[in-house]
Amino acid sequence: MNNLVERDLDKIWHPYTQMKTAAKPIPIIKGEGVYLYTADGGKLIDAVSSWWVNLHGHSHPYIAQKAFEQLQTLEHVIFAGFTHPQAVKLAENLLSIIPDNQKKIFYSDNGSTAIEVALKMCLQYWFNKGVHRQKILAFKDAYHGDTFGAMAVSGRSAWTAPFDSLLFDVEFIDLPTKENLEDLKSQISNLKSDLACFIFEPLILGSGGMLMYDAKLLNELMLHCRHENVLTIADEVMTGFGRTGKLFAMDHVTAEPDIMCFSKGLTGGTMALGVTSCTDEIYQAFLSDDKMKTLFHGHSFTANPIACAVANASFDLLTKPETLANIQRVEQKHQTFKQAIENHPKLKNVRQTGTIIAFEWNTDATSYFSNIRDLLYNFFLEQGIILRPLGNILYILPPYCISDDDLDYIYEKIRLALEKF
Ligand SMILES: *Cc1c(COP(=O)(O)O)cnc(C)c1O
Repeated sequence: MNNLVERDLDKIWHPYTQMKTAAKPIPIIKGEGVYLYTADGGKLIDAVSSWWVNLHGHSHPYIAQKAFEQLQTLEHVIFAGFTHPQAVKLAENLLSIIPDNQKKIFYSDNGSTAIEVALKMCLQYWFNKGVHRQKILAFKDAYHGDTFGAMAVSGRSAWTAPFDSLLFDVEFIDLPTKENLEDLKSQISNLKSDLACFIFEPLILGSGGMLMYDAKLLNELMLHCRHENVLTIADEVMTGFGRTGKLFAMDHVTAEPDIMCFSKGLTGGTMALGVTSCTDEIYQAFLSDDKMKTLFHGHSFTANPIACAVANASFDLLTKPETLANIQRVEQKHQTFKQAIENHPKLKNVRQTGTIIAFEWNTDATSYFSNIRDLLYNFFLEQGIILRPLGNILYILPPYCISDDDLDYIYEKIRLALEKF
């Protein structure tokens, strides 16, 4: 354990980190519930669910038990030509709670790969049918992951700049508002004969800055896509498994997507796993005596049994009445806090969906790199809270098991920050 930080800095390159100027990484030696324990004896509230993945708290004993049992039974097996009980059970579990039109589960191992699979399914769906539709429609501020396909369908930004010229062309549209909805619909109608699919983060654009938009407008867009024969991909990597107050963001609309992507909360935040689900219509387009119509995609760790076992354990916890009650409790606490701060002169665009509340510090520097970000990040760490602003946008996205006292403590420190900065 000694000089862990020095040994880290000597050998490790961290994600999304400018290694020259970043503060030293904080060694975490234990997690329990919403708390992370630092090597120097400190305790932090994980108010960002460790990059939006954790649902039930850290080192959950039930999940740990299920992982342990699976490790002693079958740790991994090739998933082409073979199957195993946890993958089958997880597919059954998922299909029992996602929209009814979803009929097949394709496994991969993270959110970006779930997106890559979805894009390939759509593009090859048309290819297999002999129809030339290769354009993809996406939101301007979307974030769908960091691999090349996922990056291509994400908004162009500082993150993508070094690669922009290599990313395939995508049609980008604004988020829907009452005012622009008809215009967006006609843009889709104009492009329809080229459009393979529309990919979107439903209700909340996460990395784009926790931008929220109305479920009714999304519903209209999805219905319009269906009308124009444009496939829809709901990227529920962040919104899935209770984040939006319902089990899935798609539970807020009546339209049904052709394809859905899941990852982050899928295993309760314990293991890396990705899922792409699809309708029977999509699946059928790949069934053929012609081998060329196969979906040629897979990863070494596709449907890893430990990850599947852990996802099944998280499913058991998620579908307990206590968890659903916790989700509603967090949602209501956030609502009350929102009402209390929404007219604060230093804040703008205070917004909330389910267990996520977000607001913007009124400042001129709004970029991801703004220095209010570092001020706030460090201030909250000193107060024992992990909050990780996106530029001047601060958000709380906690594990559902967070107590009222811990939520009140976070709100109180946000008020203190409002006085200070
Ligand atoms: C995080 C995220 C991804 C990418 O998932 P990774 O597991 O980080 O590759 C894709 N879509 C959305 C909406 C996300 O929030």
